Amino acid sequence: MSAIYANDTASGITDERPDEFALLTRDFVLREFPQYLQAAQRDPHHYPRELMKKCAEIGLLGLEIPEEYGGNAVPSGQQVAVMEELARGDGGLGLDILVQNSLTAFPITQFGTDAQRARYLPRMAAGEMIACFGLTEPNTGSDAKAIRCKATWDEGRKGWIVNGTKRFITSASAASVMVLAARTGRPEERGRGISVLLTEIGPGVESVTVSDFDKLGQPGSQLCEVVFQNHFVPEDALMGKRNQGWQIIESTLQHSRIWIAAQGSGIARHAMDEAEKYTHEREQFGKKLADIPDVRNHLQIMQRQVEIARLLVRKAAAHEQAGDERFFVWASLAKLVAGETALWTAQEAMLLHGGMGYMKEMPIAQIFADAAVIRIYEGAAHIQAKIIGKYLPGKEILPLLPPSGAFLRDARDFPSPAAVMADIETWTIA
Ligand SMILES: Cc1cc2nc3c(=O)[nH]c(=O)nc-3n(C[C@H](O)[C@H](O)[C@H](O)COP(=O)(O)OP(=O)(O)OC[C@H]3O[C@@H](n4cnc5c(N)ncnc54)[C@H](O)[C@@H]3O)c2cc1C
Repeated sequence: MSAIYANDTASGITDERPDEFALLTRDFVLREFPQYLQAAQRDPHHYPRELMKKCAEIGLLGLEIPEEYGGNAVPSGQQVAVMEELARGDGGLGLDILVQNSLTAFPITQFGTDAQRARYLPRMAAGEMIACFGLTEPNTGSDAKAIRCKATWDEGRKGWIVNGTKRFITSASAASVMVLAARTGRPEERGRGISVLLTEIGPGVESVTVSDFDKLGQPGSQLCEVVFQNHFVPEDALMGKRNQGWQIIESTLQHSRIWIAAQGSGIARHAMDEAEKYTHEREQFGKKLADIPDVRNHLQIMQRQVEIARLLVRKAAAHEQAGDERFFVWASLAKLVAGETALWTAQEAMLLHGGMGYMKEMPIAQIFADAAVIRIYEGAAHIQAKIIGKYLPGKEILPLLPPSGAFLRDARDFPSPAAVMADIETWTIA
């Protein structure tokens, strides 16, 4: 993994040395994102197709895809550095790019047949084809093995007939292909009766209806409900083996959780950037806010927390990159801490903006709404806590989470991020 941090200072705030791809992404985000974010704020149901094409040109849609299929696959450590910069630019636009990579290109690359890879991956890497991931249903979220959307085998037509509803599917209104988790066995078989089908959706596919939700934040991404009515899926659309799709879903979520954690630490970093900027501009009591010791102290506590989240994201990515089969435990820890950190940092940054922080015109108001969902999707906080509790029993997770009443605390009372990480390095997975 490329080094991101050069050193850790006594204050717990580190110097940053992003790798080249992350720097390129940062420049791209600063140049391209503002116009698409403004367009999304005007019309949150508009998918930024043009932006996705531009992302493709610099390789942002091929981060999971091997070169032979038109991609530029990079290791996990680089993926998270890039994702962090995308989310630091905008959480919603970053999510569009995440879905195209870790939730869809990843399973197709890892589990698809050669024909499936050849059919979808080059067009996905080029931004010509948008993909989505269909797992959640109206009655099934956290308990994902209970999905009901049914795929019934039709021997005469040599394919499946799909009936059911998928809910909260990011990018579905723009997508022409879905990685679909469907029930092909009996409900009581739970995970052992699920198959994954790569099915085409979108305009012209009359057996699939897509509608948009109105959500609180992340206007740059679209959230949809997808209804399948007697939708035919041919035999060669099966990914992996029949009734063994849960392994594909689980692997995808475990991998993608590191990306979501990076989205969380990127959003937290964005909130931090805005807090730094505002407190260096705003004057009260004859001084810049940032020169008032209490405010400086508050900023340092925030920086420390963001740093812990970012280091945990990198740790999870490093474990995955090194081939550690238990990397998913670190992924859950990173996702949990980054999710809590994103919302907390946005809230603290909003406080440091005073009344202006509550005005929709201020970026921090948007960041606050964007941050709230990190702790919900791809396994809500309680679910991550369960995984962590199972594999890291008895470990103290609370000190990794954001502290309450930061304005009452002294930054010097907290151990540095390096000290926190050194302690975690002694943890072993049960
Ligand atoms: C913006 C957004 C984008 C999304 N994108 C996608 C997507 O692209 N594809 C997709 O398939 N899904 C997607 N989702 C769905 C998302 O993954 C689910 O919303 C999430 O997994 C939670 O499921 P749920 O909403 O059904 O909540 P529920 O499962 O009903 O949970 C509600 C609350 O109860 C808690 N809870 C549930 N069970 C337990 C338990 N056993 N112990 C303790 N607490 C528990 C949960 O942690 C949560 O706090 C998206 C959701 C959102 C909001």
